[in-house]
Amino acid sequence: MLKIDSHTHILPKKLPNWSEKFGYGDFIYLQHHKKGYAKMMRGNQFFREIKENAWNPDLRIKEYEKFHTQVQVVCTIPVMFSYWARPLDCLELSKYLNDHLADLLVKHPKHYLGLATIPMQDTELAIQELERCKQIGLQGVQIGSNVNDLNLNEERFFPIFEACEKLSMAVLVHPWNMMGEKNMQRYWLPWLVGMPAETSRAICSMIFGGVFERLPKLRVNFAHAGGSFLPTLGRIQHGFDCRPDLVAIDNNVSPRNYLKHFWVDSATHDPMMLEYVIKLIGSEKITLGTDYPFPLGDLEIGKFIEEMGLEKNVVENIFYRSALEWLNVPLERFS
Ligand SMILES: [Zn+2]
Repeated sequence: MLKIDSHTHILPKKLPNWSEKFGYGDFIYLQHHKKGYAKMMRGNQFFREIKENAWNPDLRIKEYEKFHTQVQVVCTIPVMFSYWARPLDCLELSKYLNDHLADLLVKHPKHYLGLATIPMQDTELAIQELERCKQIGLQGVQIGSNVNDLNLNEERFFPIFEACEKLSMAVLVHPWNMMGEKNMQRYWLPWLVGMPAETSRAICSMIFGGVFERLPKLRVNFAHAGGSFLPTLGRIQHGFDCRPDLVAIDNNVSPRNYLKHFWVDSATHDPMMLEYVIKLIGSEKITLGTDYPFPLGDLEIGKFIEEMGLEKNVVENIFYRSALEWLNVPLERFS
C-alpha cells in the first residue's frame, strides 16, 4: 500500500550565514561539527543538534523505506520562518529554502513533495513568492500558527489565503513561537503544552474569523492532529453556544460545521485518540504525518495505525488518499 508521510522537515546541507550577510539578527545557520551531525545555531546560541537525516535525501529514503513509506512531504523547520526579519531578507532566505525543495523534487519526483515557506510579515511579498513556488513545482506552503503573535484571522493574511485558494496551493499550519514559552522553560513544556495549544489557537482563529467560511476551497492541514482543538471541541462548541456575544462576533456558523472542512495529520501517538479523531472528522480528512526526523515524531511511521485493526479503506485514506486530496496530486504520479 502506498504510504505518504505528510509532515516531515528538511534543511539544505549548507545554509548561508544570513546574520553576517544582512548585518543583524539571530538567523539560523549550521555548524557541521562532526560527521553525520550538525549544530543548528541561532546567532551564537546553540539551538538544537540535528543528524544527517535532516539534510541527506538518499539517507532519508533508505530510512523511511524500512517502514514501507514511499513518499515524504517535506518542508522547512519552523524556526527557519524568520517572520521577525526585514521582509526582503526573509524573502531571500525563503527563496533559498524553496529552491532547495524544488531541486529535490526534480531529482526525486517519486519520493518527495514539497511545501514552501513565505515571508508572512509582508502580504505582497508572501503572495509573490507563493506564485513563484507554484511555478517551480511545489504543492503548497507551510505557515506558522501565529505570525509575530498575530492570529491567522487578521485581515492582512486573508489575501495570502485567498491566493492559496486561487493557485490551488495546499497549506500546512505548524505550531511555533509558542505562547507562554518564556514562563514554561522547564520540562519541555513549550513542546508538550504550548504546541497543541498553538494549533488550537490557529484553528479557532480561522473558524471564528471566518477564513474557512469565506474561502470554501482553501485546503488546510493542521499538524499533530490539530493539537488540542479536537480534544477540547466540546468546550469550544459550548463557548460558542453560551457566549455568542464573545465568540460569534465575526462568523455565526457553528465550529462543528467546519469539521469536514480541513485536514489534520495522524501524529497523536495514541490509538484511542486517533479513533476519536476518525469518528469526529473521518479518515478522509486524516493524513499520515510523523514530524520525521525529530524525536517527538512518530518515527515508526504509522506502525501504531497498522496495529489498530482498522478497515482497509480507512487505512488507505490515512496512508495516502487524504494526502493526495489535500495536496491535489494525482495518484498516477507514484505509479
Ligand atoms: Zn513538525
